[in-house]
Amino acid sequence: MAGRIREEDIAEVREKARIDDVVSQYVTLKNAGGGSQKGLCPFHDEKSPSFNVNPARGFFHCFGCNESGDVISFLMKIDGLTFGETVERLADKYGVQLRREEGGVQEERPKGPQRGRLIEANKVAQEFYAEQLATPDALAARQFLGERGFDQEAAATFGIGFAPREGEALLKHLRGRGFSQEETVEAGLVAIGRSAYDRFRGRLLWPIRDAPGDTIGFGARRIFDDDKIEAKYLNTPETRIYKKSQVLYGLDLARREIAKSSQAVIVEGYTDVMACHLAGVGTAVATCGTAFGDEHSKVLRRFLNDHEEFRGEVIFTFDGDAAGQKAAIRAFGGDQNFVSQTYVAVEPDGLDPCDVRVKKGDAAVRELVARRVPLYRFVLSNIVGKYDLDRADGRIDALRESARLVSSIRDRSKVDAFSRELAGMIGVDIDEARAEVRRSATRQARDVRGSGAVPEVAPARNAVPDLRDPRFSLERETLKLVVQHPMTIGRSTSEIGPNDFTHPTYRAVWELVAAAGGPGAGAGDAGWTTRLRDAATDPAVSSVVSELAVEPLMKEPDAAYVAQHVFRLMELTTARRVNAIKSKLQRTNPVEQPDEFNKMFGELAALEAHRRALRDRLAGPPQ
Ligand SMILES: [Zn+2]
Repeated sequence: MAGRIREEDIAEVREKARIDDVVSQYVTLKNAGGGSQKGLCPFHDEKSPSFNVNPARGFFHCFGCNESGDVISFLMKIDGLTFGETVERLADKYGVQLRREEGGVQEERPKGPQRGRLIEANKVAQEFYAEQLATPDALAARQFLGERGFDQEAAATFGIGFAPREGEALLKHLRGRGFSQEETVEAGLVAIGRSAYDRFRGRLLWPIRDAPGDTIGFGARRIFDDDKIEAKYLNTPETRIYKKSQVLYGLDLARREIAKSSQAVIVEGYTDVMACHLAGVGTAVATCGTAFGDEHSKVLRRFLNDHEEFRGEVIFTFDGDAAGQKAAIRAFGGDQNFVSQTYVAVEPDGLDPCDVRVKKGDAAVRELVARRVPLYRFVLSNIVGKYDLDRADGRIDALRESARLVSSIRDRSKVDAFSRELAGMIGVDIDEARAEVRRSATRQARDVRGSGAVPEVAPARNAVPDLRDPRFSLERETLKLVVQHPMTIGRSTSEIGPNDFTHPTYRAVWELVAAAGGPGAGAGDAGWTTRLRDAATDPAVSSVVSELAVEPLMKEPDAAYVAQHVFRLMELTTARRVNAIKSKLQRTNPVEQPDEFNKMFGELAALEAHRRALRDRLAGPPQ
């Protein structure tokens, strides 16, 4: 290679490659007045923009991390290029003919192929693959696209191609174009086994481009049944230019629209990105072979220009199924990275955007995105939906589990709004929801010790609550009376039923008592405890009968003590039914379901009256 690039050519590159134009391929810039532009710094993490570009001066400076320079140093830093590589790349893009001086000092270059060569190899590969899509061997690939509503024009827009099956077609092509084996391997296009072979064979290919639009890798889908590689999708491995933790498919096409609308839609696959763009949702991107992570959100934030004073909108599309819900909960943890408001768009039939477009048309894709709901509401309603909200313990458990998630949110300003939402969803008092969120926050501070980690959300279903939990103490004490003093409690229990016991084990004990003829049947029976114990089929229940028989009562029982327990127990049952109906009322729309609403309202009034009567008996003289 010849010597140094002439100074005047470098100057021409600086002049033609406008710094605001180049920087905009990585960061969304907004006018900051005085001829300056501003955005989120790509070189350090920040919440409000301090990265300034002055196009007239051809210079950038960040007030946050003090990084500064011209268009060449910007590109060197952001893409990890040498000076020479950068000048060549810009000259190529902005049409500057570079001339070299004889005998100058050669630039030190890093070992291995240059970035420019890797980009070039991927470009040549993309063109080769795109041509192959028209060949007879690619029939299955064209059918795949056709079935998903993509015509030739769409395939051309996205640069889709077909990798021939034989295994060395690309390798030979690249060799013929002067690429060394090292370059083709480092570009991720060729793999080495016993010999060199094409990494992608007999697959449909999507070129993956970086934000400025250069092809840096490929996503490859299985289309033949006899494909020896099991994976449905294969991607370019990590290379100097392809980093899967940062790559967003479709970003080259979406970045301007994302900047303009301050909205980004994150879908799950290549065909979904295509479907969205073709349907008019020009802000869609997808991760490539990996989950949406922190690095992706950093990249996206720069384009959204998302910061504290200006909030962008990020919309995830998830499947409605379990995996999608899991992904949503994960995103909820990652939500902390976004100042943006995060939303979820879920198609009720569980269709992805590509299917929606095929089955329902372009407008339906746009509607799907427009119907977005806040991510927190989606995640919380999934949690709450696991529980039976018509039962008091279901509501308690739903509140506990969801409060744990709400209390883990770092943005304290959101916590109160979420607590309010939670109260409405479950049908409990707002103060109750707030209190549970506070308790949960205290528990987490104790458990996690400020590491800020989002706790694993454990499903609370089917767990048998602790018998000694204070919320069951009245049930326990009442059953102690039944087992130890059947004569004293005898007649006053005629109105008690199994539903008065909320703990399943205590309910089972009561059922034993009822089956044995009620507490009255135990009066004067020395073998009463043994009879109950022996009747139990569940060893856990018989063991509890023993406990109840020996555990001292809190007080020497008399008629007042018995009444206190029996009526209180029944009053609590009524209170639970009142709460259940109130909760249901809160969840029922009186305009949409007037009959149901009015019926429940009537039941509520009757229950309230019954509850008052029980309270009076509780307060009145012992009977
Ligand atoms: Zn900075």
